[in-house]
Amino acid sequence: MEQGTIKITIDDKEIWAKDGQSVVEAARENHIFIPTLCDYKSLKPAGTCRLCTVKIGGRFVSACTTTVSNGMKVENESSEIKDIRKSLIEMLFVEGNHMCPSCEKSGNCDLQALAYRYQMTAPRFPFSFTNRRLDASLPHLILEHNRCIQCLRCVRGVRAKDGRDLFGFVDRGAKIHITVDKTVEEAFSEKTAAAAMAICPVGALIQKGGAYQTPIGDRKYDLHPIGSEIESNIEQSGGSHDTKS
Ligand code: SF4
Repeated sequence: MEQGTIKITIDDKEIWAKDGQSVVEAARENHIFIPTLCDYKSLKPAGTCRLCTVKIGGRFVSACTTTVSNGMKVENESSEIKDIRKSLIEMLFVEGNHMCPSCEKSGNCDLQALAYRYQMTAPRFPFSFTNRRLDASLPHLILEHNRCIQCLRCVRGVRAKDGRDLFGFVDRGAKIHITVDKTVEEAFSEKTAAAAMAICPVGALIQKGGAYQTPIGDRKYDLHPIGSEIESNIEQSGGSHDTKS
């Protein structure tokens, strides 16, 4: 274990963390998986999905937006936390229309993979049967609003060359949905479509012609359950996202 400056405990495991790290980052470096949907690589944490909920000092907090401090004790794998995460996954499923067998992202979808990990069967909440628009007006990208979980990864992570945002949100409450700024030239490019599909954790952004580059059965989570690459510390090959940014 590489020694950092701060010692924390996650469940029964004492680990070293670095100053300024989030609990998610510290856990990941020490091969402990904390699930996330809105968190993504170098993006600033948003804490919107709450899948990374842990218990610290008797309070439920999001691990992606909580910075480590010396002596911190984190509850990550208790039955209580697991059930909270499972219920959050169930809520996302009933709030949208996630028909996994017919979704182009099946096998590469973080939400689907987490549902398997937390053994979701029938959600405990009623389905809302929303009927949102499917926008196929861009030359290379389909926006399937029925599958959007509003994680804001596309908004935070896909930008034009001049730094302008390409994706944004409009409306409020249940009507909230993503939009693409069609006044920016890059919105129409194949590269943007590929980047958007790669960053979206579900099948809400699909690159036209790019969805089946990896056959079903050989995809990321068809081969390895979500979290296993962190827990086993093995760089896994094959079945990555269909598109590369
Ligand atoms: S389109 Fe995808 S990346 Fe963008 S907010 Fe919705 S789920 Fe997240």
